[in-house]
Amino acid sequence: MDDAALQNPGIEDRDVTPITPTAPVQSPTHGGRAKCLQRLVRLDLPVPRTVALSFETVRGIAHGKMPDIHALLESFNPGAVLCVRPSSEDPDWGGPGAILNVGLNDERLARLARSIGAEAATQLYTRFVHAYAVEVARLDPDVFADIDAEGAAGLAAALAAYEEEAEEPFPQDPAVQLSEVLRSMARAWEGTTARLLRQAKGAPADAGLGLVVQEMALGLGVGECGSGVLQLVNPATGLPQITGRYLSQSQGREALEKGAASLYLERDPRGPSLEELAPEAFSEILTHAARMRRRLRAEMQVEFTIENGRLFILDGVMVTGSSRAAVRIAVRLAGDGIITRQEALMRVEPRALSELLHRQVDPEALRDTIGRGVAASPGAATGRIVFTAAEAQASAARDEPCVLVRRETSPEDVRGMHAAVAVLTERGGMTSHAAVIGRGLGLPCVVGAGRMAFHLRRGELRAEDGRVFRAGDTITVDGTQGAVLAGAPPTVEAMLDDSFRTLMAWADAERDIGVRANADTPADAQTARNFMAGGIGLCRTEHMFFEPGRLTVMREMIFADGPEDRRDALRQLLPMQRADFTELFGIMTGLPVCIRLFDPPLHEVLPVDRAGVRDLAESLGLPISEVSRRIESMGEYNPMLGMRGVRLGVTVPEIYDMQARAIFEATLEARRDGAPVVPEIMIPLVSTPREVEHVRTRIDAVAAAVRAERGRDFDYKLGVMVETPRACLLAEEVARHVQFLSFGTNDLTQMTYGLSRDDAGRFMSEYVALGMFEEDPFHVLDAEGVGELLRIGVERGRRGHPGLSLSLCGEHGGNPASIDVCRAIGLDYVSCSPFRVPVAQLAAAQLAIRDRIERG
Ligand code: PEP
Ligand code: MG
Repeated sequence: MDDAALQNPGIEDRDVTPITPTAPVQSPTHGGRAKCLQRLVRLDLPVPRTVALSFETVRGIAHGKMPDIHALLESFNPGAVLCVRPSSEDPDWGGPGAILNVGLNDERLARLARSIGAEAATQLYTRFVHAYAVEVARLDPDVFADIDAEGAAGLAAALAAYEEEAEEPFPQDPAVQLSEVLRSMARAWEGTTARLLRQAKGAPADAGLGLVVQEMALGLGVGECGSGVLQLVNPATGLPQITGRYLSQSQGREALEKGAASLYLERDPRGPSLEELAPEAFSEILTHAARMRRRLRAEMQVEFTIENGRLFILDGVMVTGSSRAAVRIAVRLAGDGIITRQEALMRVEPRALSELLHRQVDPEALRDTIGRGVAASPGAATGRIVFTAAEAQASAARDEPCVLVRRETSPEDVRGMHAAVAVLTERGGMTSHAAVIGRGLGLPCVVGAGRMAFHLRRGELRAEDGRVFRAGDTITVDGTQGAVLAGAPPTVEAMLDDSFRTLMAWADAERDIGVRANADTPADAQTARNFMAGGIGLCRTEHMFFEPGRLTVMREMIFADGPEDRRDALRQLLPMQRADFTELFGIMTGLPVCIRLFDPPLHEVLPVDRAGVRDLAESLGLPISEVSRRIESMGEYNPMLGMRGVRLGVTVPEIYDMQARAIFEATLEARRDGAPVVPEIMIPLVSTPREVEHVRTRIDAVAAAVRAERGRDFDYKLGVMVETPRACLLAEEVARHVQFLSFGTNDLTQMTYGLSRDDAGRFMSEYVALGMFEEDPFHVLDAEGVGELLRIGVERGRRGHPGLSLSLCGEHGGNPASIDVCRAIGLDYVSCSPFRVPVAQLAAAQLAIRDRIERG
């Protein structure tokens, strides 16, 4: 509310809006609950009389401007008992708890006792006094929890306790009660904790709260009275199943409380049911629920109350379940013709997909369990321990998977969580910050592992059995089972069900940009294939050598003193590479595979510790001192800007020759029993067209040699990985030599900002918090700067070579906002890590649908 409005006291009609079929009630002004209640009213369901207070009105209340409470009370039947519930724009953003039974006082107690019985009336009044004392007057909850007396004595004790604690009698005027309830709820929303919590769920800083005031169906009294919730799907699986509970003589969601003597809804062999107790009410609820599903076009949880056998529908809340359920629900609603396929696609949060897609620890694996906690977010991930968000970001910048270990997390940790592969906390439960955010991000997460000792300052994590793990040690978080395991046990792929496949097929039909996977190993390629990736967009060949046995051969090759020595190492590497490529081509049969030639920053390849140096000395037959001297001589001040990529390819051409030969020989081999293979060969870190010309001449020569030797023909495509600003600027000339360009936006971002990929994590959170960068540009593509270079590269590239294929294969390829930029500049495809492929596919489909809707 602006200042002028605040200075202009007085009641306007729009302050309070009775919910009628035509009232001006909208989610962005009154919140989702108010809007949903209006829809229920329009469906002619038995909804008690309800009034909505807009965001603006509630903001005014928080700042001391109360609407006309008497006018508000006059909207209801005289003497009505009321409840007040929050109505935020997105129900996920939460809000203060509902307050029930507002309006009860000594005088009404007597009247109510006559209609519903003294016991029920007394209980309702007592409940209200408790709730008001704790939630509104903010008195000590223990004082009220300690009252043992029941019935009239319990009420008297509660009223006395109130008077003693509050130093004034319990307010008797319903108008005072209601205004205090409204004020406390309005102010709770403005509190710092509530704001941080909802911002962590994506709410904007100025998100508003609406309130709904509803006449109560009491749920306590004579005849069959009670309350419950019902939904037509199982929220965990998303499969059709009547679920929920009913509790006689209860209100609100008491039927769901642990230990409550609640009934099943449908007849159930495990115990009594509402269907048996009140068959008519049960079938009436089912009819209403089915109608709500059809007309509100969503699976709804129905909140109902039965008052002396009469049914009231108090609320409808969209069912929120697991990600698996979300996919199933969306697909089934579309299958039933209730929503369109496009709507089904729009209803599934792309990031939520990753939750059901994550790897799990192989059930057959030996598990070295070092701690247990709450299984807060499913999936399993392995990484090195880090104890701060900044370390997590630094680790991610080094491409080193890490597990963020914290006592508990707060919004300041969210960036670190983005950077980590899993999260482990000492404190918290299913709804704690780490759990909520972890699930939102699809990050495996275990919280509340309190039996492990978290010595953050000392950088130690002590296992339940006393073993000590330090920063940098490898652990695995099994968020499905709530366990922490030592080391890296084998993992298995996620299970994909039919609904997932159906949704992905629908996404395929909608999206207008391709999605490939970055895959270096057969396991990655298999995952990519399972996720229906359009091919491999980046195979980082140096990653194929990061296994202990192979690393030494690669080091020998880089270390070789002259062409002769190098030829020996290359002779060993050739069959390894050929086998790797043959396997990849086999897995990806019929789909393109883009192989990037060697691009190892030397500091990642050279041995750093004594054992590594000794191993290398042994295999080279040289003294350690000589090897150490050579390592020193190869050291670089800026390895990421040094002898990398094509620079190595040009200065030590035998390496690329060997790789080209391995690719071509594998092409012929894979073609023997599969569909034709057309490999794509990509040259990394190009900064001048001459590099491309040079490498191309050699690769063409290798191709000619292999054709001649084997007497068979094959095709291949050559491309450039555009990772330097200069390659973007000279794209016209570069493109003349090749069939495709693929933007490597990790390096391109590094070079555009002059910002080290390895070091940016140290200050990135601060930089973003200070508003210097809107987002971490290594996470979300910088549309203004790096995006401009892409636009230049695309435009000039096409000028030099019409029909050129253009793509992006940096980490940004799996980020929905970055995909939006890629679509806008007309790239043919993005390529991202295999598990992000479905996320990218769905995001791309949603963007295409959004554009079509906007264009009308
Ligand atoms: C890039 O630079 O964007 C890229 C994909 O290559 P790498 O991360 O291997 O440097
Ligand atoms: Mg790169």
